[in-house]
Amino acid sequence: KRAATEKRRQAAFCDHLTSLANRRAFFEAAEVELDRAAHTPRQLALIVFDADHFKHINDRYGHPAGDRVLCDLANTLRDTFRAVDTVARLGGEEFAVLLPSTGIEQALLVADRLRAQVATRLVAADGLEIAYTVSAGVAILDDQAGGIDALIKRADEALYHAKAHGRNRVAEWTPELSTHEKLPQRSRNAG
Ligand code: GH3
Ligand code: MG
Ligand code: MG
Repeated sequence: KRAATEKRRQAAFCDHLTSLANRRAFFEAAEVELDRAAHTPRQLALIVFDADHFKHINDRYGHPAGDRVLCDLANTLRDTFRAVDTVARLGGEEFAVLLPSTGIEQALLVADRLRAQVATRLVAADGLEIAYTVSAGVAILDDQAGGIDALIKRADEALYHAKAHGRNRVAEWTPELSTHEKLPQRSRNAG
């Protein structure tokens, strides 16, 4: 019975395709980290990764091949980040990493390391090799940032900036991004 309960718990917090933490697990971990940061002031960084032109990859190689690319991205994320970092699939081709005790410079460095690593990957699919890239947005928790939703919004604004400036790149959130760039409507709290 205990094993069955554990299995259910795993299924509820685990992304079925990549075995990373899922959206729900990400928000639970974020709550814990934000709580800690509130009690003992410490830095907290968030990186949002999004696969570039992923619709095109599906269209060209097929959905199952696209799934393999997502698994390759998940594995590269797992290999790049520390055990204390929460690496999660937020949904679709979007991933997030929460990094405790990490400042902006370090977060930008590791985000770019992941980006560069992904750009060297080739994913085998039906005798073909698929190259792919990711873009990233980075934001840091500060007094103004508020909760996790506000932090995600900032990382998303930075990601949108990275996409708009050519993709396969990392962008840092700055206050100007909030005032100058309009994000497309997205349903952040779905699921
Ligand atoms: P951009 O560089 O602007 O991010 O372009 P994009 O094509 O990656 O973005 P868009 O949001 O238009 O398309 C995302 C695509 O990801 C569309 C959707 O079918 C695909 N996708 C979402 N989830 C999965 C999945 O689990 N497996 C596969 N193979 N594709 C998925
Ligand atoms: Mg996307
Ligand atoms: Mg995309």
